[in-house]
Amino acid sequence: MAEIDVITQGFGVGTNEGMISYCGITLIKGQHLTLVDVGYPARRQILLERLAQRGINATDIDRIVITHAHWDHSLNILMFPNAEVVVSQTEFDYMQKPHPLDQATPLYLPDILNRAKSVLKVRDGDELEPSVRVMSVPGHSPGSLAVLVETADGISGMVGDALPSRKAAMADPPTAGLIFFDEEEGEKSARKIIDTCNVVYPGHDRPFAVANGTFKYIQPQSVVITNVPRDEDGTMHYSVDESTKPFEVTVYPTAKAKAKK
Ligand SMILES: [Zn+2]
Repeated sequence: MAEIDVITQGFGVGTNEGMISYCGITLIKGQHLTLVDVGYPARRQILLERLAQRGINATDIDRIVITHAHWDHSLNILMFPNAEVVVSQTEFDYMQKPHPLDQATPLYLPDILNRAKSVLKVRDGDELEPSVRVMSVPGHSPGSLAVLVETADGISGMVGDALPSRKAAMADPPTAGLIFFDEEEGEKSARKIIDTCNVVYPGHDRPFAVANGTFKYIQPQSVVITNVPRDEDGTMHYSVDESTKPFEVTVYPTAKAKAKK
């Protein structure tokens, strides 16, 4: 049975200077050493260090699944020269000519894929190896994929931004939240993930268990802010706004919005 190991948790923290946001990066240890999503250059060092802690080199990774083509999930692909890159056929087709207002899909991603060892284009239900398959979850992007793994805890889903956080799962209705493709499809996909998975590894949050309509984190989180700016006299310029903003859906100009009721 394949095992799942969280290399980096996904998270997002707001600041008055803009959002700091990283996607989760997960390792599936089965017939292959598969990374689901690979993040972007700011996390390269951490990614290498955490793999090394497990006795794994970048050259040992023989497969990468990119849940979708967004820059924050995909730009580290070429760190792994021996990896076959798995992407949905729909997302592959879309990235060849992204919507002109798409701010998240790099125009040079096809070039990155051309330089990868190989590219495997998949469709809904395709099996990658025994107990590991993909599920189509469009809405956030046209060809978003979830990777489903049968584990001792049931079905674990690495779902990318089709369900980016626990908050998105708890929204009414559940949603991808950030909609680059189709709002209604995004809601259907979020519901499909909740109905299918016992444990969800979301795009920008820690993993959580799903049971009878409840969503419970299964890992602690610890974010330490370092290198805080100071004046010459040592005064630190840092404060925390502890208020929580309500969850909001954003429909980008690239997307089809839901019909208003
Ligand atoms: Zn995304």
